[in-house]
Amino acid sequence: MSHINLEIPDIFFKEIPKVDIHCHLYGTIREETLQEFARQADAPISEAEIADYYVRGEKPKGVLHAFRFMEEHIFGSTDRLYRVAYECLEDLSSESVRYAEIFWNSTGTLNHHSDLSFVEAQTAITDAMLDARAALGIESSLIHAIDRQASPEEAVVMVQRMQQNRDALVIGIGIDYLETGHPPEGFWKAYQMARETGFKTTAHAGEFGCHWRNVETAIKLLNVDRLDHCYTMLDNAELVQECIVRNLVVTVVPTNSYYMRTLQRNEWSDKHPIRKMGRLGLKIHPNTDDPTFHNVTPALVWKMMYQEFGYSLSDLRKFTLNGLDGAWIDEDVRVEWKKQFATDFDDALQRYGLDLDSGLS
Ligand SMILES: [Zn+2]
Repeated sequence: MSHINLEIPDIFFKEIPKVDIHCHLYGTIREETLQEFARQADAPISEAEIADYYVRGEKPKGVLHAFRFMEEHIFGSTDRLYRVAYECLEDLSSESVRYAEIFWNSTGTLNHHSDLSFVEAQTAITDAMLDARAALGIESSLIHAIDRQASPEEAVVMVQRMQQNRDALVIGIGIDYLETGHPPEGFWKAYQMARETGFKTTAHAGEFGCHWRNVETAIKLLNVDRLDHCYTMLDNAELVQECIVRNLVVTVVPTNSYYMRTLQRNEWSDKHPIRKMGRLGLKIHPNTDDPTFHNVTPALVWKMMYQEFGYSLSDLRKFTLNGLDGAWIDEDVRVEWKKQFATDFDDALQRYGLDLDSGLS
Protein backbone atom coordinates (compact mmCIF):
# COMPACT_ATOMS: atom_id res chain seq x y z
CA MET A 1 0.00 0.00 0.00
CA SER A 2 1.37 3.43 -0.81
CA HIS A 3 0.92 6.32 1.52
CA ILE A 4 0.96 10.05 1.14
CA ASN A 5 3.40 10.95 3.83
CA LEU A 6 2.30 14.33 5.04
CA GLU A 7 4.91 15.84 7.31
CA ILE A 8 3.29 17.08 10.46
CA PRO A 9 5.37 19.19 12.85
CA ASP A 10 6.18 17.46 16.16
CA ILE A 11 4.77 20.40 18.05
CA PHE A 12 1.29 19.51 16.79
CA PHE A 13 1.45 16.15 18.57
CA LYS A 14 2.78 17.89 21.67
CA GLU A 15 0.06 20.52 21.78
CA ILE A 16 -3.08 18.50 21.07
CA PRO A 17 -5.07 18.02 24.30
CA LYS A 18 -4.66 14.56 25.81
CA VAL A 19 -5.54 12.22 28.60
CA ASP A 20 -3.31 9.30 29.58
CA ILE A 21 -5.33 6.54 31.21
CA HIS A 22 -2.79 3.74 31.08
CA CYS A 23 0.43 4.74 32.77
CA HIS A 24 2.30 2.90 35.54
CA LEU A 25 3.78 5.04 38.28
CA TYR A 26 7.11 3.21 38.53
CA GLY A 27 7.37 3.18 34.73
CA THR A 28 7.48 6.98 34.64
CA ILE A 29 10.61 7.43 36.75
CA ARG A 30 13.24 9.67 35.15
CA GLU A 31 16.66 8.10 34.74
CA GLU A 32 18.41 10.78 36.78
CA THR A 33 15.88 10.37 39.59
CA LEU A 34 16.37 6.60 39.70
CA GLN A 35 20.16 7.09 39.72
CA GLU A 36 19.78 9.50 42.64
CA PHE A 37 17.38 7.25 44.58
CA ALA A 38 19.65 4.23 44.05
CA ARG A 39 22.62 6.14 45.49
CA GLN A 40 20.53 7.37 48.45
CA ALA A 41 19.23 3.89 49.19
CA ASP A 42 22.62 2.30 48.60
CA ALA A 43 20.81 -0.10 46.28
CA PRO A 44 22.77 -3.01 44.76
CA ILE A 45 22.84 -1.75 41.16
CA SER A 46 25.40 0.09 39.03
CA GLU A 47 24.83 3.29 37.07
CA ALA A 48 25.31 1.31 33.85
CA GLU A 49 22.68 -1.26 34.86
CA ILE A 50 20.19 1.53 35.51
CA ALA A 51 21.01 3.08 32.13
CA ASP A 52 20.23 -0.29 30.50
CA TYR A 53 16.64 -0.10 31.79
CA TYR A 54 16.07 2.95 29.61
CA VAL A 55 16.65 1.35 26.21
CA ARG A 56 13.47 1.03 24.11
CA GLY A 57 12.49 -2.45 22.89
CA GLU A 58 15.04 -5.22 23.45
CA LYS A 59 17.00 -4.46 26.62
CA PRO A 60 19.35 -6.51 28.81
CA LYS A 61 16.73 -6.63 31.58
CA GLY A 62 13.03 -5.95 31.04
CA VAL A 63 10.71 -3.42 32.64
CA LEU A 64 9.35 -6.00 35.06
CA HIS A 65 12.86 -6.55 36.40
CA ALA A 66 13.16 -2.80 36.98
CA PHE A 67 9.79 -2.72 38.78
CA ARG A 68 10.71 -5.59 41.08
CA PHE A 69 14.06 -3.99 41.83
CA MET A 70 12.42 -0.67 42.70
CA GLU A 71 9.77 -2.33 44.89
CA GLU A 72 12.50 -3.96 46.92
CA HIS A 73 15.18 -1.31 47.04
CA ILE A 74 13.76 2.10 46.13
CA PHE A 75 10.14 2.68 47.10
CA GLY A 76 10.13 1.99 50.82
CA SER A 77 9.95 5.76 51.34
CA THR A 78 7.04 8.18 51.20
CA ASP A 79 9.36 10.97 49.98
CA ARG A 80 10.37 8.96 46.95
CA LEU A 81 6.78 7.94 46.19
CA TYR A 82 5.74 11.57 46.37
CA ARG A 83 8.57 12.65 44.11
CA VAL A 84 8.06 10.01 41.42
CA ALA A 85 4.35 10.86 41.29
CA TYR A 86 4.95 14.59 41.09
CA GLU A 87 7.61 14.28 38.39
CA CYS A 88 5.38 11.91 36.43
CA LEU A 89 2.62 14.51 36.35
CA GLU A 90 5.11 17.27 35.55
CA ASP A 91 6.33 15.32 32.51
CA LEU A 92 2.83 14.41 31.30
CA SER A 93 1.63 17.97 31.79
CA SER A 94 4.54 19.36 29.75
CA GLU A 95 3.08 17.57 26.69
CA SER A 96 -0.52 18.71 27.14
CA VAL A 97 -1.83 15.74 29.11
CA ARG A 98 -4.62 17.37 31.08
CA TYR A 99 -5.84 14.33 32.95
CA ALA A 100 -4.02 11.12 33.92
CA GLU A 101 -5.03 7.88 35.57
CA ILE A 102 -1.95 6.32 37.11
CA PHE A 103 -1.57 2.64 38.05
CA TRP A 104 0.26 1.74 41.23
CA ASN A 105 1.05 -1.81 42.36
CA SER A 106 1.30 -1.61 46.14
CA THR A 107 1.58 -5.31 47.00
CA GLY A 108 5.28 -5.93 46.30
CA THR A 109 6.38 -2.59 47.74
CA LEU A 110 4.48 -3.12 51.00
CA ASN A 111 5.62 -6.75 51.30
CA HIS A 112 9.23 -5.58 51.19
CA HIS A 113 8.78 -2.67 53.58
CA SER A 114 6.85 -3.58 56.71
CA ASP A 115 7.53 -0.12 58.18
CA LEU A 116 5.62 1.55 55.31
CA SER A 117 1.83 1.53 55.74
CA PHE A 118 -0.64 1.37 52.87
CA VAL A 119 -2.27 4.64 53.86
CA GLU A 120 1.03 6.53 54.20
CA ALA A 121 2.18 5.31 50.81
CA GLN A 122 -1.17 6.02 49.14
CA THR A 123 -1.31 9.49 50.69
CA ALA A 124 2.21 10.33 49.48
CA ILE A 125 1.04 9.70 45.92
CA THR A 126 -2.30 11.49 46.20
CA ASP A 127 -0.58 14.46 47.92
CA ALA A 128 1.65 14.73 44.85
CA MET A 129 -1.50 14.65 42.69
CA LEU A 130 -3.07 17.49 44.67
CA ASP A 131 0.13 19.54 44.50
CA ALA A 132 0.47 18.93 40.75
CA ARG A 133 -3.12 20.05 40.26
CA ALA A 134 -2.45 23.28 42.19
CA ALA A 135 0.90 24.04 40.56
CA LEU A 136 0.47 22.72 37.01
CA GLY A 137 -3.27 22.44 36.48
CA ILE A 138 -3.11 18.74 35.62
CA GLU A 139 -5.89 16.55 37.03
CA SER A 140 -5.18 12.95 37.97
CA SER A 141 -6.48 9.87 39.75
CA LEU A 142 -4.93 6.71 41.14
CA ILE A 143 -5.74 3.13 40.15
CA HIS A 144 -4.54 0.34 42.44
CA ALA A 145 -3.17 -2.49 40.34
CA ILE A 146 -3.27 -6.13 41.36
CA ASP A 147 0.07 -7.92 41.20
CA ARG A 148 -1.07 -10.97 39.21
CA GLN A 149 2.12 -12.85 40.16
CA ALA A 150 1.04 -12.64 43.80
CA SER A 151 -1.89 -14.69 45.13
CA PRO A 152 -5.59 -13.84 44.62
CA GLU A 153 -5.81 -13.47 48.42
CA GLU A 154 -3.22 -10.68 48.30
CA ALA A 155 -5.41 -8.95 45.70
CA VAL A 156 -8.34 -9.21 48.12
CA VAL A 157 -6.16 -7.64 50.84
CA MET A 158 -5.31 -4.80 48.45
CA VAL A 159 -9.01 -4.07 47.88
CA GLN A 160 -9.74 -4.28 51.62
CA ARG A 161 -7.00 -1.71 52.23
CA MET A 162 -8.57 0.54 49.58
CA GLN A 163 -11.96 0.20 51.24
CA GLN A 164 -10.57 0.98 54.69
CA ASN A 165 -8.55 3.98 53.49
CA ARG A 166 -10.85 5.73 51.01
CA ASP A 167 -9.23 8.62 49.21
CA ALA A 168 -11.17 10.82 46.80
CA LEU A 169 -8.41 10.50 44.20
CA VAL A 170 -8.45 6.69 44.22
CA ILE A 171 -10.95 5.55 41.64
CA GLY A 172 -10.50 1.92 40.75
CA ILE A 173 -8.46 -1.20 40.23
CA GLY A 174 -6.53 -2.83 37.42
CA ILE A 175 -4.30 -5.88 37.12
CA ASP A 176 -0.82 -6.11 35.66
CA TYR A 177 2.67 -7.62 35.66
CA LEU A 178 3.35 -10.97 33.99
CA GLU A 179 0.20 -12.26 32.28
CA THR A 180 1.77 -15.48 30.99
CA GLY A 181 0.84 -18.20 33.49
CA HIS A 182 -1.23 -15.75 35.55
CA PRO A 183 -4.70 -15.61 33.97
CA PRO A 184 -7.33 -13.20 35.32
CA GLU A 185 -10.00 -15.63 36.59
CA GLY A 186 -8.36 -16.24 39.98
CA PHE A 187 -8.89 -12.59 40.82
CA TRP A 188 -12.70 -12.50 40.43
CA LYS A 189 -13.25 -11.91 44.13
CA ALA A 190 -11.06 -8.80 44.35
CA TYR A 191 -12.88 -7.44 41.29
CA GLN A 192 -16.29 -8.20 42.73
CA MET A 193 -15.42 -6.54 46.05
CA ALA A 194 -14.04 -3.47 44.31
CA ARG A 195 -17.11 -3.13 42.11
CA GLU A 196 -19.52 -3.58 45.01
CA THR A 197 -17.92 -0.70 46.86
CA GLY A 198 -18.03 1.73 43.97
CA PHE A 199 -14.60 1.33 42.41
CA LYS A 200 -14.17 1.18 38.64
CA THR A 201 -12.34 -1.74 37.06
CA THR A 202 -10.02 -2.43 34.16
CA ALA A 203 -7.62 -5.28 33.32
CA HIS A 204 -4.46 -5.96 31.34
CA ALA A 205 -5.31 -8.91 29.07
CA GLY A 206 -4.05 -10.36 25.79
CA GLU A 207 -0.86 -8.33 26.20
CA PHE A 208 2.14 -10.61 25.49
CA GLY A 209 0.53 -12.77 22.83
CA CYS A 210 -1.52 -14.38 25.62
CA HIS A 211 -4.73 -16.15 24.60
CA TRP A 212 -7.88 -14.10 23.84
CA ARG A 213 -9.73 -16.04 26.53
CA ASN A 214 -8.08 -13.69 29.06
CA VAL A 215 -9.88 -10.81 27.35
CA GLU A 216 -13.14 -12.76 27.41
CA THR A 217 -12.65 -13.51 31.12
CA ALA A 218 -11.98 -9.84 31.85
CA ILE A 219 -15.21 -8.84 30.10
CA LYS A 220 -17.56 -11.61 31.19
CA LEU A 221 -16.29 -12.72 34.60
CA LEU A 222 -14.54 -9.63 35.97
CA ASN A 223 -17.11 -7.31 34.34
CA VAL A 224 -14.56 -4.61 33.64
CA ASP A 225 -15.47 -1.04 32.73
CA ARG A 226 -12.65 -0.84 30.20
CA LEU A 227 -9.72 -2.89 28.91
CA ASP A 228 -5.95 -2.60 28.61
CA HIS A 229 -4.01 -3.94 25.57
CA CYS A 230 -6.21 -6.90 24.45
CA TYR A 231 -4.38 -7.30 21.13
CA THR A 232 -5.09 -11.03 20.83
CA MET A 233 -8.83 -10.52 20.80
CA LEU A 234 -8.28 -10.02 17.06
CA ASP A 235 -8.04 -13.83 16.87
CA ASN A 236 -11.72 -14.02 17.82
CA ALA A 237 -14.08 -11.96 15.66
CA GLU A 238 -17.05 -12.57 17.96
CA LEU A 239 -15.16 -11.19 20.92
CA VAL A 240 -14.23 -8.08 18.93
CA GLN A 241 -17.93 -7.59 18.12
CA GLU A 242 -18.86 -8.08 21.77
CA CYS A 243 -16.38 -5.42 22.78
CA ILE A 244 -17.77 -3.02 20.17
CA VAL A 245 -21.39 -3.70 21.20
CA ARG A 246 -20.52 -3.10 24.85
CA ASN A 247 -18.80 0.14 23.80
CA LEU A 248 -15.71 -0.73 25.85
CA VAL A 249 -12.73 1.58 25.52
CA VAL A 250 -9.47 -0.31 24.98
CA THR A 251 -6.25 1.41 26.02
CA VAL A 252 -3.45 0.51 23.59
CA VAL A 253 0.29 1.05 23.82
CA PRO A 254 2.15 1.79 20.55
CA THR A 255 5.50 0.92 22.18
CA ASN A 256 4.27 -2.47 23.42
CA SER A 257 7.43 -4.49 23.89
CA TYR A 258 5.98 -7.83 22.69
CA TYR A 259 5.32 -6.51 19.18
CA MET A 260 8.56 -4.51 19.20
CA ARG A 261 10.29 -7.85 19.78
CA THR A 262 8.27 -10.15 17.54
CA LEU A 263 7.48 -8.01 14.50
CA GLN A 264 9.99 -6.44 12.15
CA ARG A 265 9.32 -2.74 11.63
CA ASN A 266 8.39 -3.35 7.96
CA GLU A 267 5.74 -5.86 9.06
CA TRP A 268 3.92 -3.32 11.24
CA SER A 269 1.71 -2.01 8.44
CA ASP A 270 0.29 -5.51 7.80
CA LYS A 271 0.53 -7.26 11.12
CA HIS A 272 0.52 -4.89 14.07
CA PRO A 273 -2.76 -5.30 15.98
CA ILE A 274 -3.04 -1.60 16.84
CA ARG A 275 -3.24 -0.85 13.13
CA LYS A 276 -6.21 -3.19 12.83
CA MET A 277 -8.06 -2.44 16.06
CA GLY A 278 -9.22 1.06 15.25
CA ARG A 279 -10.17 0.08 11.70
CA LEU A 280 -12.36 -2.74 12.98
CA GLY A 281 -14.36 -0.22 14.98
CA LEU A 282 -12.87 -0.89 18.41
CA LYS A 283 -12.85 2.16 20.63
CA ILE A 284 -9.11 2.51 21.15
CA HIS A 285 -7.04 5.13 22.95
CA PRO A 286 -3.20 5.32 22.82
CA ASN A 287 -1.19 5.66 26.03
CA THR A 288 2.38 5.80 27.34
CA ASP A 289 2.32 2.74 29.69
CA ASP A 290 5.93 2.99 30.98
CA PRO A 291 7.06 6.17 29.22
CA THR A 292 10.61 6.56 30.48
CA PHE A 293 11.50 2.87 30.13
CA HIS A 294 9.91 2.72 26.67
CA ASN A 295 11.79 5.90 25.83
CA VAL A 296 8.57 7.56 24.73
CA THR A 297 6.48 10.60 25.61
CA PRO A 298 2.78 11.37 25.13
CA ALA A 299 3.53 13.38 21.97
CA LEU A 300 5.56 10.51 20.49
CA VAL A 301 2.78 8.02 21.25
CA TRP A 302 0.30 10.11 19.27
CA LYS A 303 2.83 10.64 16.50
CA MET A 304 3.24 6.84 16.26
CA MET A 305 -0.51 6.43 15.79
CA TYR A 306 -0.23 8.70 12.77
CA GLN A 307 3.10 7.69 11.35
CA GLU A 308 3.45 3.99 12.22
CA PHE A 309 -0.16 2.88 12.20
CA GLY A 310 -1.44 5.16 9.46
CA TYR A 311 -4.35 6.72 11.29
CA SER A 312 -5.57 10.06 9.98
CA LEU A 313 -5.89 13.23 12.00
CA SER A 314 -9.63 12.65 11.99
CA ASP A 315 -8.95 9.26 13.65
CA LEU A 316 -6.66 10.94 16.19
CA ARG A 317 -9.42 13.38 17.07
CA LYS A 318 -11.78 10.45 17.59
CA PHE A 319 -9.22 8.64 19.78
CA THR A 320 -8.85 11.81 21.85
CA LEU A 321 -12.56 11.71 22.61
CA ASN A 322 -12.44 7.91 23.18
CA GLY A 323 -9.96 8.64 25.98
CA LEU A 324 -12.50 10.89 27.65
CA ASP A 325 -15.23 8.27 27.22
CA GLY A 326 -12.96 5.75 28.89
CA ALA A 327 -11.82 8.09 31.68
CA TRP A 328 -13.30 7.62 35.13
CA ILE A 329 -14.60 11.13 35.60
CA ASP A 330 -18.01 12.61 36.42
CA GLU A 331 -20.47 12.80 33.53
CA ASP A 332 -20.75 16.60 33.62
CA VAL A 333 -16.95 16.91 33.51
CA ARG A 334 -16.84 14.45 30.61
CA VAL A 335 -19.33 16.49 28.60
CA GLU A 336 -17.47 19.73 29.27
CA TRP A 337 -14.01 18.28 28.55
CA LYS A 338 -15.14 16.60 25.33
CA LYS A 339 -16.33 19.95 24.06
CA GLN A 340 -13.14 21.71 25.16
CA PHE A 341 -10.79 19.03 23.83
CA ALA A 342 -12.55 19.00 20.45
CA THR A 343 -12.26 22.78 20.17
CA ASP A 344 -8.61 22.77 21.20
CA PHE A 345 -7.80 19.91 18.81
CA ASP A 346 -9.38 21.86 15.95
CA ASP A 347 -7.49 25.02 16.96
CA ALA A 348 -4.23 23.07 16.82
CA LEU A 349 -5.12 21.83 13.31
CA GLN A 350 -5.71 25.37 12.21
CA ARG A 351 -2.54 26.70 13.83
CA TYR A 352 -0.41 24.32 11.76
CA GLY A 353 -2.40 24.52 8.54
CA LEU A 354 -3.75 20.97 8.78
CA ASP A 355 -7.18 19.50 8.27
CA LEU A 356 -8.95 16.37 9.43
CA ASP A 357 -8.36 14.52 6.17
CA SER A 358 -4.60 14.81 6.50
CA GLY A 359 -3.47 11.23 6.79
CA LEU A 360 -1.54 8.33 5.47
CA SER A 361 -4.12 5.68 4.72
ZN1 LIG B 1 0.38 -1.45 31.29
